[in-house]
Amino acid sequence: MSQPFVRILGSADWHPTKNNDHSCYTVCDRILIDACPSAMMALLNQDVDPIQVSTICFTHMHADHYMGLPALLLHWRVRTNSLGGLTIVGPKATVRASVERALNYVFHDSRDMHAEIAELPKIVELEGDSVYETEEFRIAAMDSDHAVPGLCYHITHKESGKSVGFTGDTRYIPSFGQFFKDADLLLHECSFGAGPLPEGNIVCRHASAQEAVQVCNEAGVKKLLLTHTFEPNRESAMAYAKEHLSIPVEWAVPYKTFEV
Ligand SMILES: [Zn+2]
Ligand SMILES: [Zn+2]
Repeated sequence: MSQPFVRILGSADWHPTKNNDHSCYTVCDRILIDACPSAMMALLNQDVDPIQVSTICFTHMHADHYMGLPALLLHWRVRTNSLGGLTIVGPKATVRASVERALNYVFHDSRDMHAEIAELPKIVELEGDSVYETEEFRIAAMDSDHAVPGLCYHITHKESGKSVGFTGDTRYIPSFGQFFKDADLLLHECSFGAGPLPEGNIVCRHASAQEAVQVCNEAGVKKLLLTHTFEPNRESAMAYAKEHLSIPVEWAVPYKTFEV
């Protein structure tokens, strides 16, 4: 494959910092995982045609993970006169309403005029253990354990056999070991840095580097990319994971690409 396996567009939590938007990635520049506010510009800035990224997989519909969708919808409409080539995958409970909200936002002044957008994106609503396949990819999903309905993904590139896991935002779930089994790469959130988790996690439902280490060990992951934390927490999260794992551990540096 000529495209990089995984490309980072952002790896911040809900505090974006200079040159680091909310967490957002591509797989082979064909699938977008979540849509940070700058996703469309980030693709253009890295010479990736946003139209070739024709599947968007949402981990969940918290604003920091989907605010970039309206810009992508407008770009598709301007470039192709249709949204029919776009597939949007997400949690069954929320993805359809969120896409509808984004469409109303972008085309609020003229939705009737845009006859072409009658051809709407294909929406794939997933729940529980499920699989969605494209010609190139097998996209396995399971429910996350977050404050809102969400999905974790384990995506396999069929031709090369490479696979990458995305936890999205979630607490630790015992079945992660099976779900992310033998992943070449795992992007694991570490909202609480090196950990341990605070008492309040019962409400916000996130993870730390401690759970990332546990999941890597249980799943036999080959390489860990830590992501989704407030910048001042990064160093200690990285130090914890490196100390407790023998596999390569890196930070998901924005605009960096990763092979396996
Ligand atoms: Zn988040
Ligand atoms: Zn969230």
